Amino acid sequence: MKKLIAAFILVFMLMPVQSAFLEADVPPVLMYHSISDADWQVTAENFREQISYLAEGGFTFLFPEQIFYSYRYDKPIIITFDDGFLDNYEIAFPILQEYNVRATIFMMTAYIGLDGWLTAEQIREMEASGLVRVEPHTHNHTDMLQLTPEQMREQIERSNTALTEVTGREHRIFAYPYGFFDEQVKKIVAEYYDIAFAVGNGDRRDMLALHRYSVFNDMYAFRRIVAVREPGIIAEEPYIGGGFRLRYRYRILIAGLACLLPAAFIYRKARKKGAKI
Ligand SMILES: [Zn+2]
Repeated sequence: MKKLIAAFILVFMLMPVQSAFLEADVPPVLMYHSISDADWQVTAENFREQISYLAEGGFTFLFPEQIFYSYRYDKPIIITFDDGFLDNYEIAFPILQEYNVRATIFMMTAYIGLDGWLTAEQIREMEASGLVRVEPHTHNHTDMLQLTPEQMREQIERSNTALTEVTGREHRIFAYPYGFFDEQVKKIVAEYYDIAFAVGNGDRRDMLALHRYSVFNDMYAFRRIVAVREPGIIAEEPYIGGGFRLRYRYRILIAGLACLLPAAFIYRKARKKGAKI
């Protein structure tokens, strides 16, 4: 009987470990820059058409950190803007509000308050709406491949400090200027951030160089991009019911085995002595 209970406990402990890894899709990440009539940018009219297409099509707009849980949402998608153009506030933000859409802006912090770029007050207002998060994009928008590790750290730390002064919160999400990175850059970025976005050179499975799709005015291309799903990624379920992190499951399992094995030994010894267990 006790053997049966022990077997049951063992199976029970193994079950959550198996279900800790899930098959999930990684949501498409869209990348905008300026919302204007400038070359290679998206016009206000087209931006509205794209956002309404997504909102009316039942997409769920996520912030980057929700990517770890994106399989819980219906048609998840992440909207990002790079650099911090003033039109992100003047043109994009009212449209985001109208359709209740979440978006992330990667701001090169040396440009905060300069002519044509977002001001600290605008950043605060957008963050207070709950719809927009502004995250760092280095201080001067320098190509990180050209920097020494010390210079990289300086760019990261300066931009984090400058942005925290504005937003009052910690920043753990990042986008590489020009999407440029290599293994050394990634290693340093990993010391500061949980998620980093590349551009078209990224990988939809690499949280430190996530792929993004450049968006243009072409609606046909846009519909194709947002329809893309890449199944088969192994997503880590970070929490179980009681708020335990995944690694605790393994600790529980190991602790369980450590208890069961001596117990089995004791039962065997007791049985040899004639006990009915
Ligand atoms: Zn940029």
